[in-house]
Amino acid sequence: MKAAVFHRSGLPLSIENIADPEPGPNDLILKVCACGICGTDLHWSEVNNEESGWRDLHPGSVMGHEFAGEVVAIGREAKGGWKIGDRVCAMPQMGCAICPDCLAGRPHRCPNVIGRGGQDNPGAYSEYTRIGARETLHLPENVSFQEGALVEPLAVGLHAAKRARLKPGDTVLIIGGGPVGLSVALWCAFFGARHIVVSDLVMARAEQATRFGATAAIDASKENVAERFNQIAGAAPTVVFDAVGVPGSMQIAIDHAPVYGRVVVVGLCMVADNFKPAEAVIKEVDIAFCFCYERVDFDMAVDMLAQGRIDAAGLVTHTVGFDDFSAAFEALKKPSDQIKVMLAPA
Ligand SMILES: [Zn+2]
Ligand SMILES: [Zn+2]
Repeated sequence: MKAAVFHRSGLPLSIENIADPEPGPNDLILKVCACGICGTDLHWSEVNNEESGWRDLHPGSVMGHEFAGEVVAIGREAKGGWKIGDRVCAMPQMGCAICPDCLAGRPHRCPNVIGRGGQDNPGAYSEYTRIGARETLHLPENVSFQEGALVEPLAVGLHAAKRARLKPGDTVLIIGGGPVGLSVALWCAFFGARHIVVSDLVMARAEQATRFGATAAIDASKENVAERFNQIAGAAPTVVFDAVGVPGSMQIAIDHAPVYGRVVVVGLCMVADNFKPAEAVIKEVDIAFCFCYERVDFDMAVDMLAQGRIDAAGLVTHTVGFDDFSAAFEALKKPSDQIKVMLAPA
């Protein structure tokens, strides 16, 4: 099968023929119909060294963990009544299916988890990929494959909104207008936040969020974010999301939080960072960290897409085949106005 193969940092992914995946007893094989390019993969392919804190991406790896497609093979012990041709998306991690974390819908916490994109399990920048029957979800007919491939990033935003204990009437500041920030904005709107303001150093990125539930955008390169937020909402934000994850961004989030405010760190900063505990202590700020999602977040995202209660299709700004995939992947390493770029392997 065709796949976009990583060889080393600094080298574009190369489109090659590699072995087709075989299903284990409890697995399914998916024909990939759509796979989104994720910022995590961009970083992973760039900072592939020990100091970065990222696990090694071995030469020969295939990334891609935001995908949907059709079932083309079924392991002999796979449970769930799966049929060839079923339209599905899946959680990218494959767990053992029997440990407490797997039973709780958290395969990424499974002690025997098989991740995606490493050597053990090639990802979905490919024609076919292996998925766990237990981690697979049906896509209703009215949910497209591209929307199915958005379920993973939507689950990230949903999990973050839940970690914020979001209440109707909350006033929200989201620092960072990338795909994670937009997904968070979408769910804050869903849960009835009163103001949802996105700040970004690139105004065009912040403004994009207003198409996904944000009520205002702030140009953090020119405006005083705290003052501007106050003008918009009449007070400091009750919830601040750090959707950037670079050194210093958590402190900025704490700075913006009021006394008894909530700070939710959803950006993934992989290097050591400083923040001033006293400021957070004096304010009694609640700080919550987010990692991944749970099965219920995937289920909820699929249902809300199917019921038309969230509109995420606009997150896909570009679709490419294998011929243009590698160039599209490289282009995303530089500032661009793309939100989600999708691989359509067929
Ligand atoms: Zn991702
Ligand atoms: Zn397990």
